Amino acid sequence: MAIFGFLLSALLYYSEISKAQALISRANHGIVLFIDGYFTEIINTIAVLDENKEIRDAMVLGNDSRQRILNGYRSITKANKNITYIYSAYENGLMLINDWTPPEGYDPTTRPWYRAAMTTKNGTSIGLPYQEIKTKEWLVSTGRALKQPGGGYGGVVAVDCSIDQVLHLIAQHDEYITEISFVMDRSGKIIMHPDQSVLGTSLPETKGILPQKSEGDLIYHVGKVEYVAHYNRMASTGWTVVTGVEKKEILRPIIVEVVSLVGLTGVIALVLGLVQSLLLSRRLSRPLVELGKKIKATIAGGEQDGDEYVYPHNEIGIMAREIGQLAAIELSAKTRELRTSEEIYRTILMASPDDITIADLSGKVIMVSDAASRIFGYDPGEGPGMSVMDFIAPEDHERARANIVKMIQENYIGPNEYRAVRKDRSIFDIEVNNALIRDLQGDPIQMVLIVRDITNRKKAEQQIQHLIQQLETERDLAQLNSLTDSLTGLSNRRFFDTVLLTEFSRHTRSGTQLSLIMIDVDHFKNYNDHYGHFAGDDCLRQIARTLKAVVERGTDIVARYGGEEFVVILPDTDRHGATALAGRIAESVRALALPHATSDTFGCVTISLGVASAEDHVLTDGSQLVALADQAMYQAKNNGRNRSVVLPASK
Ligand code: GH3
Ligand code: MG
Ligand code: MG
Repeated sequence: MAIFGFLLSALLYYSEISKAQALISRANHGIVLFIDGYFTEIINTIAVLDENKEIRDAMVLGNDSRQRILNGYRSITKANKNITYIYSAYENGLMLINDWTPPEGYDPTTRPWYRAAMTTKNGTSIGLPYQEIKTKEWLVSTGRALKQPGGGYGGVVAVDCSIDQVLHLIAQHDEYITEISFVMDRSGKIIMHPDQSVLGTSLPETKGILPQKSEGDLIYHVGKVEYVAHYNRMASTGWTVVTGVEKKEILRPIIVEVVSLVGLTGVIALVLGLVQSLLLSRRLSRPLVELGKKIKATIAGGEQDGDEYVYPHNEIGIMAREIGQLAAIELSAKTRELRTSEEIYRTILMASPDDITIADLSGKVIMVSDAASRIFGYDPGEGPGMSVMDFIAPEDHERARANIVKMIQENYIGPNEYRAVRKDRSIFDIEVNNALIRDLQGDPIQMVLIVRDITNRKKAEQQIQHLIQQLETERDLAQLNSLTDSLTGLSNRRFFDTVLLTEFSRHTRSGTQLSLIMIDVDHFKNYNDHYGHFAGDDCLRQIARTLKAVVERGTDIVARYGGEEFVVILPDTDRHGATALAGRIAESVRALALPHATSDTFGCVTISLGVASAEDHVLTDGSQLVALADQAMYQAKNNGRNRSVVLPASK
């Protein structure tokens, strides 16, 4: 486009410039002809006047002659409208002129027109244009020296002609608005110009050419404005007429033409492009756009509105139709699947006995499942927009907030138990499990709270707790009521107390014998420390078994008195029998040979025994017998352990 524009401009430039030069030259010739003719007429008039004898001799003629001359001047002036004044002046200062009286002291021979004519002598002198003071008319004085009969020149006849017509003509333009013509004298000085202010100046560009050539083309400048011009020298006056036009004006049509041509080309290219893209769109894009619409419609689940688009029977059209059909089948299947699974999820969600609440991270509820209204007593649809805190009792708010922060920061899922508030302000218990919904970047966006009403569970838990407590109490009671010791299987302390009571009363009532042996394991604390508590228990069980085996009589009672202390009640047994039995018991325990590394008494487990018999004392109570046996046992300990002592020692 740029090359096209450049070539076009160059072509137009040359053709336009030469066309302009032809036009300017024609206008210039017209003006030259006019001015030439105009001044030829004036020059001829002056020549005729110069030939007149009366005018030549007026200096020496009488008034009649002078009046005749003046009359002649007047009639010529009237006959030729271009002639404003005709007058003649003479060496003696005489001046013949109509309608003007020279001022006092006026000497015509000193005037420029007189001098110019005298200098030119045999020929017509033409002065510079001047403006008439009264009429404002622009005039040019032409003059000719008057020959004297004896040779020499005695005066000047002059004609002042109006050059308004000339000025009017040179100011007119023909083809171009900026067309301008002006007249230069032989020296190149501008003597006629529509702009009077330049009169008397000259153009630098005309200096070299004017004397040599009488006609030609010229480029000149006025300020920054460039003119394309033609000049022509007139034969009559020797003046040169220059006609010029601003180059800018000549070039303007070229610019307009280039711009419009380039523009037109552009518009054509655009139209062609549009047509092409329209065709392309019909053939290529339209089927693809329609395909896109069809796929969107399929995804949306509805049928495409309006008439079914008919794909064009080209490659794109066929391909688009095929893809469309495939996509429709695939997408509708996928959409159906999606809808079904969505429906399933929704059904599960709504059927859940637990409330499933979805809230944003600030705790604002977005969705609640059907169970929510049942659990919290709100109408369906009331939940969304509320805060999750509205469902939690104020005393648990702080803890709930802390747990939400923990969930967002650490993915904490719970469960947490809270006191909850129903719409009717009643309080109940809930258990909440949390989960976070994340966006594709993995950032949490919503939270899911699975809320379970645990009122019944709490109630059941309380009942179970109550039951356990009850059972424990009962167990303790049973333990208390039980008669056997759980560790050893021997009779327990309680049973011993009962039997002692019975036997003691029987002894006091019937005077029967009654003896008691108190037994304590030696250094048993050390044993526990060394072998451990379980081994200690085991040791106690073995001693118990031995005691049972040694004490054979059915009426004898072996009981665990407490800790590692045992007691044997021996009804109907006297001091000797009891002492003998105590000896056998001690021997049997020793015989177990249970190793006892930390006993400084013996290498294995031993016992100390204290024996007391009711016959030796005056007793009022069974416990007094126990205390006596205990005393005896301590005596045995003091005596070095691994032995039995009976109190009193002798009877
Ligand atoms: P000693 O009687 O010879 O003076 O020394 P000791 O180490 O046996 O002293 P004491 O009678 O004060 O300590 C009794 C220890 O018996 C204390 C406790 O550790 C232990 N003991 C008491 N009852 C049981 C029990 O049922 N099982 C076990 N393993 N040890 C028990
Ligand atoms: Mg003890
Ligand atoms: Mg002991």
